[in-house]
Amino acid sequence: MGCRPPVIVPERGDEPAGQAVLALSASSRAALDLCVHCGFCLAVCPTYDHLGIEDDSPRGRLHLIRNLSEGNIQPTGKVLEHLDLCLDCRACESACPAGVRYGVVIEDARAQLEAVRPRPFWAGGLRAFFLRGVFPRPAILRALARGLRLSQRLGLDRAATKLGLVRGRMALLADTARVPRQFSSDLLPGLTPARGARRYKVALLQGCVNDVLFGPTNAASVRVLAANGCEVSIPAGQCCCGSLAFHFGGIEQARAQARRNIDVFLETGAEYIITNAAGCGSTMKQYDHLLAGDPAYAEKARLVSAKVRDITEFLASIDLAPPPLPVRVKATYQDACHLAHGQGVRAQPRKLLSMIPGLELVSLRDSDTCCGSAGVYNIVQPEMADALLRRKMENIAATGAQVVASANAGCMMQLRLGARLYGPPVEVLHVIDLLDRAYGEGNGHG
Ligand code: SF4
Ligand code: SF4
Repeated sequence: MGCRPPVIVPERGDEPAGQAVLALSASSRAALDLCVHCGFCLAVCPTYDHLGIEDDSPRGRLHLIRNLSEGNIQPTGKVLEHLDLCLDCRACESACPAGVRYGVVIEDARAQLEAVRPRPFWAGGLRAFFLRGVFPRPAILRALARGLRLSQRLGLDRAATKLGLVRGRMALLADTARVPRQFSSDLLPGLTPARGARRYKVALLQGCVNDVLFGPTNAASVRVLAANGCEVSIPAGQCCCGSLAFHFGGIEQARAQARRNIDVFLETGAEYIITNAAGCGSTMKQYDHLLAGDPAYAEKARLVSAKVRDITEFLASIDLAPPPLPVRVKATYQDACHLAHGQGVRAQPRKLLSMIPGLELVSLRDSDTCCGSAGVYNIVQPEMADALLRRKMENIAATGAQVVASANAGCMMQLRLGARLYGPPVEVLHVIDLLDRAYGEGNGHG
C-alpha cells in the first residue's frame, strides 16, 4: 500500500480539463484535505478487495472527487461508475488513521452529481415518485405495502416474476420480504407506559421499511424498553428518516424529512430518540450536519442528533433488568455498517446477546464487512452485492450458528435472501427479537 499517490488512469471519454462540476462544502473539503494517501483504508474496502482497482478504493474515489472539484476530470460514465460502486459502508472511516470522514465527502459528491447525471425520462420519474411521493408519505407507503401483500397472497408477485415483469434482485427481495398482516403503526399505541416506575421518557422512530416489514421487531422494541422502565412514545407525524433519499442523492428531500422529524420528535419532550435500524440512526445522528446551514433548524437539529441512540446502545448503557428465560441457540452477530462504522456501536449489541441465558454467541469472521445490502445498493449494483453476500454466507456457514443476529432491517433482508439462495438455512433476527424472547414476550419473528 505505502504512501504512493494514487494514479487516475485516463479513460476514453474523459475530458482532460474543464469546468468543475463539484462545489464541495467546507466540511467535505476539510475531510478531503486530511487524506495523506497512506492507503490503510484499502485493506478494508469491500469493492477494492473484490476488484483490486485503485479507483474503486476509498483513496482512489477521494482522488476522483478532488479532481472533479478542480475541473481536472469530467463526470464521464466511467468516473460515475467508480463512485456508484461505493457502498457508503464507511469501513474506510474506521481504518483511517487521519480521521478522514469519507461518508461526508461521498454523500456531498453524490448529491451534486445527481444534477449532471444523464438518466432516461422514465427512470427520473420513477426516482422522483419514490423519493418525494412514497418514502416521506407513510400513508402511501402503507397502501403500496398492502398492495404487495395482497399480490403475495394471490401469488401475483411470483406470476409477474415468471412473466419477466419484475426481474433480478428486486424480484428476489420482494419474494423474500413477505409483508406481514399488520404494520407496526397498526400494532402499537402512540404511548406505552413504563412497566413499573418510569425511569426514562423515550420516543421511537418506527421507520418506513421497518413499519411495514418489521412491525414485530418494533413491537419487541417497545416491550423491551417498557420492561426496563421506559415510557415509549411513537409520534404519529414522523416520517422516513431521510436515509433513502440520501442514498438516492436527494439531499434536499432528506433535509425536508429531517425538518419534519425534528419538529415531531422535539414535541414529544423525550430524553432519548431510539432507533432500531442502523441506517436510520446514523442519518438522524447527522441531522446537525445536514442542517448546519439552515438558521431556523441548525440548533434544533443539534438537539435532536444529541438525543438519538441505537436501541442496543441505549439498553447497554442503562441498568438492564436481567432477561430471565433461556434462549438455547448458537448465534452469531453481523455488524451493520452504519452501526459499527457509522456510529461506533460494536460492543453493545454483543453485550446484550451475551446477557441472554442459554444463548451461545460465536464470532463471525469479517463481521463488520458489508453484506451487500447498503440501502438500495443490492438493487442497483446486484453483481457486487451478490459477491459480498456469497462471501458473508460462507463465513456464516463456518460458524455453525443457527441464528444470525443483526440490528438493521436492510442487513436482515439481505441475509434472509442469502440464507435462501446460498444457505446455510439460518434464522435471521434482530438483536431485540432475541432479547424479547428472553423476557418472555412475542416469538421474535420479523
Ligand atoms: S482516507 Fe485515510 S486511510 Fe485512506 S488513504 Fe486517506 S488518509 Fe489514508
Ligand atoms: S465506504 Fe465502503 S465501499 Fe466505499 S470506499 Fe469506503 S470502504 Fe470502500
